[in-house]
Amino acid sequence: MDNYDYIVIGGGSGGIASANRAAMHGAKVLLIEGNRLGGTCVNVGCVPKKVMWQASVMRENMLQDSQGYGFDVETSFDFKTLVANRDAYIKRLNGLYAQGLASNQVDVVTGYAKFISKHTVEVNGATYEAPHILIATGGKSVFPDMPGAEYGDDSDSFFTWETLPEKVALVGAGYIALEIAGVLNGLGVETHLIYRYERPLRQFDTDIVDELLSIYEAEGIHLHPESHIQHIEKTATGSLVLTTQKETLEVERLIWGIGRTPNVDSLGLENTDVKLDEQGFIQVDRYQNTTAEGIYAVGDVIGKIDLTPVAIASGRRLSERLFNGQTALYLDYENVPTVIFTHPPIATIGLSEQEALEQYGEDQVKIYRSQFNPMLYALQDRKVKSTMKLICVGPEEKIVGLHGIGVGVDEMLQGFAVAIKMGATKADFDNTVAIHPTGAEEFVTMR
Ligand code: FAD
Ligand code: NDP
Repeated sequence: MDNYDYIVIGGGSGGIASANRAAMHGAKVLLIEGNRLGGTCVNVGCVPKKVMWQASVMRENMLQDSQGYGFDVETSFDFKTLVANRDAYIKRLNGLYAQGLASNQVDVVTGYAKFISKHTVEVNGATYEAPHILIATGGKSVFPDMPGAEYGDDSDSFFTWETLPEKVALVGAGYIALEIAGVLNGLGVETHLIYRYERPLRQFDTDIVDELLSIYEAEGIHLHPESHIQHIEKTATGSLVLTTQKETLEVERLIWGIGRTPNVDSLGLENTDVKLDEQGFIQVDRYQNTTAEGIYAVGDVIGKIDLTPVAIASGRRLSERLFNGQTALYLDYENVPTVIFTHPPIATIGLSEQEALEQYGEDQVKIYRSQFNPMLYALQDRKVKSTMKLICVGPEEKIVGLHGIGVGVDEMLQGFAVAIKMGATKADFDNTVAIHPTGAEEFVTMR
């Protein structure tokens, strides 16, 4: 049996960040990863998604926006080249993660870990022991229980496509369905978005989501609200026929984007005191402690905020706490900024208008809103409006929510998130001189 100070199970965003930080503080660290280093984000998440998003935005700009600027662009597009270059980039990243771990002297074992007792894990027949063990095993896609569900893809298998289909259905109402719908539509695929309620992204500001829906509709995405798929059949030619309570729809491929579930099943948690919550995620306190002493969990496996920077930040803080004497350190899960890479993107931090009204009451909440045509579209007929909102509360107009949809908001949010985290008020924004001509200036010039 090999002994370590810290064993990290899962070499994704949270696990790698925590392992490196612990090793930097002198801990003897073992990282166990069953698949490719980098986890979901690098291999089948943020990174390949953003590459596809960029390809799609590029095509839109070339085919729809460049003529007004005097370009006469004829494009041919080779999906295989995009996929090959994307995958080669990911391979380079896998190597960089391995190098980073090696340079910090983190030992890496490839294989799936299982607890065999409270502080001992087994991988490929070998056992390892440590007083501190981190579970950072992430999550996987949910598939519904219905006839024909297995004919659909999920985001993982979307990234294995070698050709672009002509007609695709996205099922779901979260980041993944909305992002991939935008990517495929932008690449010229007939795209259908099927969701259960009146609108998707129900936890986000309704106004912003409505703007997205009207843009998606104008850009040619077929919206199927209040639709429940009952079954899916495969035809002799391989296409899929979906039946909802309202219609049948034939598509070449279908992608499920209906949520994710934690990777806990084969971890041997029954051999520990780790408890799961009602949804099956690992229960932790604000310090990432599970219910078992010396066992911690970060990232998607705790089901709190499934974002890479959240997994990284909580993993690093945990290592600072355990191995660098910063005993009071924890991640504050309030006011986490996030971007949905739709077309155009949505950037959001803090409370939506609805949440602010519920929390503070109508007389305490003031909404500032701006809608405009970004200058990108000044010289052509195609206009994709940007909408920005500030949600302010109290007489001092503290900004408790900032939301935007439009070209460039993805890159605008980070700086505004700092201001909001520091407790900025509307007056602070008013006192900040605008940068002109930009879209971002709208956030500091709202009346
Ligand atoms: P993961 O990164 O999933 O890593 C867990 C690792 O544990 C995996 O590599 C897995 O193989 C390994 N593992 C599992 N079980 C075991 C075991 N028993 N033994 C050993 N290893 C094991 N977030 C963003 O912030 N921005 C984005 O743009 C974004 N886009 C996304 C797009 C998609 C399509 C998806 C699916 C997710 C996206 N996310 C994005 C979310 C982000 O990828 C996750 O929040 C993040 O990867 C979570 O990190 P993690 O360390 O918790 O888990
Ligand atoms: P989400 O949990 O965000 O959304 C899935 C949605 O699908 C649910 O909210 C639900 O909405 C709907 N749904 C659930 N079950 C069904 C069903 N049986 N049939 C139809 N619809 C259903 O999951 P995603 O898979 O989109 O993403 C997982 C997480 O990964 C995200 O929450 C996010 O944290 C992260 N991520 C982040 C990205 C980014 O940072 N840009 C990009 C991609 C993922 P409703 O109840 O309204 O029907």
